[in-house]
Amino acid sequence: MAVGIGEEGKSRSILIAGAGPVGLAAALELARRGFSPRIVDDGAGPTPLEESRALGVNARTLTLLSPSGVTDHIIAAAQPIEHFRVHSGEKMLIQLDTRQVPGRFSAIRALSQGNTERLLLEALSTHGIVPEWQTAVAAGDIADFRKPEVVLHKADGSSETVRPDILIGADGAHSVIRKALGAGFPGEALEASFYLVDFRYAGPVDTHYGEVSIFDPGMVARLPVAADIIRYLSTLEDFESRIVHPAPVAEKTWTSQFRINFRHVEPMAKGNVFLAGDAAHIHSPAGARGMNLGIEDACWLAWLIAEGREQEYSGLRIPAVKQVLKQTYGLTRLVTMRNPLAIAARNLLAPLLLRFGPARRALLQSIAGYDTKRPPWIDWAE
Ligand SMILES: Cc1cc2nc3c(=O)[nH]c(=O)nc-3n(C[C@H](O)[C@H](O)[C@H](O)COP(=O)(O)OP(=O)(O)OC[C@H]3O[C@@H](n4cnc5c(N)ncnc54)[C@H](O)[C@@H]3O)c2cc1C
Repeated sequence: MAVGIGEEGKSRSILIAGAGPVGLAAALELARRGFSPRIVDDGAGPTPLEESRALGVNARTLTLLSPSGVTDHIIAAAQPIEHFRVHSGEKMLIQLDTRQVPGRFSAIRALSQGNTERLLLEALSTHGIVPEWQTAVAAGDIADFRKPEVVLHKADGSSETVRPDILIGADGAHSVIRKALGAGFPGEALEASFYLVDFRYAGPVDTHYGEVSIFDPGMVARLPVAADIIRYLSTLEDFESRIVHPAPVAEKTWTSQFRINFRHVEPMAKGNVFLAGDAAHIHSPAGARGMNLGIEDACWLAWLIAEGREQEYSGLRIPAVKQVLKQTYGLTRLVTMRNPLAIAARNLLAPLLLRFGPARRALLQSIAGYDTKRPPWIDWAE
């Protein structure tokens, strides 16, 4: 087993395509180990604060971002989610107390993706690294995956051809790097559309719990975003009429509509080109795993690069990706099922199953993100 690559290896040129949470986490983890990655993004800056997609920051992500110092800032800014409940009418199907997950960090906290990105950017800037915004990567056909050639198109109309030693595609679900790998993005899309609205209230609201109300057919989920903002997510187009507002509404801060896909690429690397985050896998927001799984990819990849073992990346990450996709698929189906027999079985079995230790513990562990391989470079108990 290699033990680090020495100072010479750290001069390898690394280009990261995409400065979303995953690209930023990769850059930060590389920078704190002495690398000088270049990170580019075709957007004008981080995700706007009011357009937050990812909300849940799990305990595993807090473990991973501890060495860079970002975790302390996330804890200071985020709302801990202490309870989850799922009910169908009057019947409580699932009730979880996330404080039962032992460990250094609470299982899950809510922080808007824009805030998480800003904390990562701040930490990255202490290493003298700032993303090059409005710089789009065009990958076309990469001929040599050992020394990939890509073109950077900049806002001023100029372009630059670069051949990094390592190329990391963290350029999201429509990744041009993944397309250049030619590996496709197999999987499926759910039929139902999902609708989202974030409400800001004229005063503080209870942010300590998440809730799913099942209407058979259809569901409405309630999740905290900030001290005065609650997100509602539904499969029902007219769902706003079902919301019981906890306080007077001040404004709607964001609305969105999306389809849910379950897809992943295999392998997640070719030669010296690596895919991380949504570029490599997408799934439903159930379980709040998307960004967390992507940050985990980024942290593993940075560690493996520093160890000179990056060729192990895909083999190490694929099992975690498959597991999380399977789990989020199951959770999503559980709350969107339409068959009356299946609904009756779920309503009967879910409360029974979760009354017992192992199933309950497994669900809590997955909420905390502790169900994937433990990062070996973290030398303290999580
Ligand atoms: C409605 C919704 C709710 C969600 N809720 C959660 C949640 O609660 N918890 C969770 O963990 N996840 C959640 N997710 C998923 C989460 O948002 C994504 O998993 C996460 O944003 C992935 O991060 P990323 O950095 O891989 O990709 P992105 O955030 O998509 O970032 C990719 C970046 O690459 C840039 N880019 C794209 N193409 C190029 C190019 N050619 N050149 C240069 N730059 C490029 C983009 O500008 C972007 O900044 C949710 C998603 C949705 C849609």
